[in-house]
Amino acid sequence: MEKLRDGYLFQEIRRREEEHRKKYPTANVITLGVGDTTQPIPQIITSSMVQKACALSTDEGYSGYGPEQGEKALRQAIADKLYTHVEVKGDEVFVSDGAQCDISRLQLLMGSNLTIAVQDPSFPAYIDTGVLIGQTGEFHEKTRKYKNIEYMKCGPENDFFPDLSITPRTDIIFLCSPNNPTGHAATRKQLQQLVEFATKNGSIIIYDSAYTAYISDDSPRTIFEIPGAKEVAIEVSTFSKFAGFTGVRLGWTVIPKELKYANGFPIINDYNRIVCTCFNGASNIVQAGGLTCLSQEGYMALCSVIDNYRENAKILIDTLTSLGLKVYGGKNAPYVWVKFPGSSSSWDVFTEILEKTHIVTVPGAGFGPGGEGFIRISAFGNREVILEASKRLKTLFK
Ligand code: PLP
Repeated sequence: MEKLRDGYLFQEIRRREEEHRKKYPTANVITLGVGDTTQPIPQIITSSMVQKACALSTDEGYSGYGPEQGEKALRQAIADKLYTHVEVKGDEVFVSDGAQCDISRLQLLMGSNLTIAVQDPSFPAYIDTGVLIGQTGEFHEKTRKYKNIEYMKCGPENDFFPDLSITPRTDIIFLCSPNNPTGHAATRKQLQQLVEFATKNGSIIIYDSAYTAYISDDSPRTIFEIPGAKEVAIEVSTFSKFAGFTGVRLGWTVIPKELKYANGFPIINDYNRIVCTCFNGASNIVQAGGLTCLSQEGYMALCSVIDNYRENAKILIDTLTSLGLKVYGGKNAPYVWVKFPGSSSSWDVFTEILEKTHIVTVPGAGFGPGGEGFIRISAFGNREVILEASKRLKTLFK
């Protein structure tokens, strides 16, 4: 616990936001920082949860503990509807209370005695849960890196994808695509290289596809589109950003049966033990909502919410580009990743934006040393809020 840096990034941002609100009590602060969804969940989905909740008050509809791995119908629907062009079986899907919780449970499965690689910058939970389980060693103040972690730099110079020719072998490789925070969706060729690299090295890829619903080009939606991935990869995903379930809580992890330890023992058997021991299954009410998300009507309603966020991202891209800034992401992810000129630290840029425009963003350095000089802006907002933010951003350099 003592090795954890500066509290959790988003808690630190909230703390600074609170301070700012106290300093400017009448300011209309816009929060485009923490990547939380803002749009209402389509009614067809909430109605199914209401119905399930009410049924629990009846003799016929009551149910207690469900299967720890999730309701069979939901596991199958995830496999059928979200893995359409690849072979994922229902019993390889473990339904959960969210991707972040699954990342922690995977860390528990793996333990402290192994090496991990993460993209730099990356979603902080991979490193922080690694610290908690004891994988990381000491933190070096000068490099701002943990001793035992392999940081795979991902910037504009390498198309936001690790240069595997200089990446040493590790037991585990965390890869998030579309990436939080850079917004980059890995191409098929990049993922093929990654799968080859993991196969050659006997490494396991933990692939986080939390933002896959935002892909608008032909980038792979899942690592399992890559031949050979089932032998080397686990995929973690969530209804949070796809269905606005950040507060409702529902996610899943796919552990292919083909994925085995070096001694041939299937990893799925151990993950099943972890799930049964440390988790008791996702809420039955929430799972009913998840099933409706995957019905034709539910899915279509969600697509229109996602289109709305996509349009927001486009507005932000256009605004920031018009300021002469280098803007990345936003096309396949709800995050825009902006490079600021000069040598200012990203926490300084964060403060400047907050002071001048009352907009909360996220300093890139919070995602690792490779994020220094960048700011992440979230497109999860009401349209009026995004338009107002855009208006204010246009005055940033005036
Ligand atoms: N993975 C990534 C890349 C994320 O950005 C987030 C949340 O922001 C999560 C996982 C957490 O997802 P969940 O809400 O399902 O815990």
